[in-house]
Amino acid sequence: MTFRKFAEFFRKLAETTLRNKITIILADLFKEAKLTEIGKICYLLQGRVAPLYEAVEFGLADKMIIRAIAEGLNVKREEVTTHFKKTGDLGITIEKLKEIINKRKVNKKKLSVVEVYEVLHKIATASGSGSQEVKIKLLSDLIKDLDSLSCRYVVRIPIGKLRLGFSDMTMLDALSWMLDESKRYRPEIEKAYNVRPDLGFIAETVKVKGIAGLTDIKPKVGSPILMARAERMTSGEDIIEKIGKCAVEPKYDGLRLQGHLQTTKISLFSRNLENVTQMYPDIVEGMKQQLKANEAIIEGEAVAYNPNTGEYLPFQETVQRKRKYDIEAYAREIPLKLFAFELLYKDGKNYIGKPYIERRRQLEKTVERGETILVSQEEVVDDVRRLEEIFQDAISRGLEGVMAKKLNGIYRAGSRDFTWIKYKRSYAGSLSDTIDAVVMGYDFGQGKRTGFGIGDFLIGIYDEKDERFLTVAKIGTGLTDSEWKTIKVRSDELKVKVKPKNYEVDKIMDCDIWIEPRIVTEIRADEITRSPVHTAGRIMGPSKSGKAFEVKEAGLALRFPRLERFRDDKKPADATTLTELRKMYGQQGKK
Ligand code: AMP
Repeated sequence: MTFRKFAEFFRKLAETTLRNKITIILADLFKEAKLTEIGKICYLLQGRVAPLYEAVEFGLADKMIIRAIAEGLNVKREEVTTHFKKTGDLGITIEKLKEIINKRKVNKKKLSVVEVYEVLHKIATASGSGSQEVKIKLLSDLIKDLDSLSCRYVVRIPIGKLRLGFSDMTMLDALSWMLDESKRYRPEIEKAYNVRPDLGFIAETVKVKGIAGLTDIKPKVGSPILMARAERMTSGEDIIEKIGKCAVEPKYDGLRLQGHLQTTKISLFSRNLENVTQMYPDIVEGMKQQLKANEAIIEGEAVAYNPNTGEYLPFQETVQRKRKYDIEAYAREIPLKLFAFELLYKDGKNYIGKPYIERRRQLEKTVERGETILVSQEEVVDDVRRLEEIFQDAISRGLEGVMAKKLNGIYRAGSRDFTWIKYKRSYAGSLSDTIDAVVMGYDFGQGKRTGFGIGDFLIGIYDEKDERFLTVAKIGTGLTDSEWKTIKVRSDELKVKVKPKNYEVDKIMDCDIWIEPRIVTEIRADEITRSPVHTAGRIMGPSKSGKAFEVKEAGLALRFPRLERFRDDKKPADATTLTELRKMYGQQGKK
């Protein structure tokens, strides 16, 4: 496939917001792709040249791209910059400038997708001194060889601004559609993806072997597994009623880590699949010392503790370890312990489909006693009173609450269900749990904070069915000065000129500045209420006269929302979903 042809698919994808239409366009693209192309096409659609969990980044700022464009088109840098200032989009800028030039000159080369992918891969992997120059030269050569539409997309990839507005899930639907013009294979494809979240690999397997190729996907050491998540309940009684006799563990408040041991090599992944090995040398060392296996994949919660007092520290301390600089110094000052609670793979044996009890037993056998990796506490209970006692004990030790785990439950990679149930402390006058929400935009505001240039910000939850962000609140109070500054600075890095196409916002909630959905925040609120101006769960329909569109069922909104903390360990699609919010609203009614 030529890159030009691929660019035409990009254009078609950008022209629609309808998920079904996007799915069909992608399926057509996948059908047309050759075996050797489909994997690479999947990465490029994600704006990448490798799976998401591989730290292969382009490392080219706008300024560098502008240089590459100027060199590629043989025009002055100022000309590119002036045009860019007008459009706010380097993709459009290069396309327009190239169109003018193309009138004079015809492109002869027809580069293939694979050829372009390979150059982009070289750009991303060039390192060391002089690598910036190499990157610019490679990109400007591509620009010379490609037509104007292809150029639009080829520069949007390294700047990370494809903005196609669909997730990996839509790509999984499209793979099913490629096979059968229906979504019937999506559950099987998703199951495999949860264990090997590498779209290139999954797409290639499906293309080569059909759906049968996915039936026995095993974990691969070094490639992260999507983490299981928990449902929530608000009493021990509900938990025992739901899953009966269960294992109860403390709910530690730290950072979830998945550790992979490959003979002597350790890799650590965060819950959004980022490779964070470099950040935690103490955990790496602990795993090397304490894991009795050749190969293993374990999971746990890393918590900071004070080596002088022996106390575990709150999340705010732990999170300081999530840093790119001064790593060693912080590791000495705030050492971490990893409370291991899962074993998913060991020496050729896949434990994902084994019951909790068996995984736990293996975990205990695999982790040797030591300083850094501790197997989490656990007690099997079948009576409500004992469960409540453990819960109270956890609370009195400053923990968040407990996790109850179904004894015969398998590890539900990438899903949230009742095999794991979190039971958290409820605060007086508050919802028992917080909500993870994405910052969608902000207003300049008036009064006291005009100095900061931000008066309030709009937050939303994730509608997993339609892959949209729906609003639940605008927050204008309760932040510290430094939190306001952080929100403003980080938002400004993500500014976009028009409202992203996967945002659904009522006119009343429009923002002065829209931003890309990247910042995840944890929000506490007093309750979930109904509101006609928020779009989470809101149902619209034609008015009686049929002439207008009106609110048929008000949306769900947060009352007295407060920022608890930033959740950089979560991806936007990990925000609280509409289904969860509805459930929380229902539970609140019950109480
Ligand atoms: P949630 O992400 O809201 O579904 O809550 C589950 C989170 O609690 C996990 O992602 C872990 O980071 C954390 N956690 C703390 N202690 C445990 C435990 N004993 N078992 C499982 N998860 C735990």
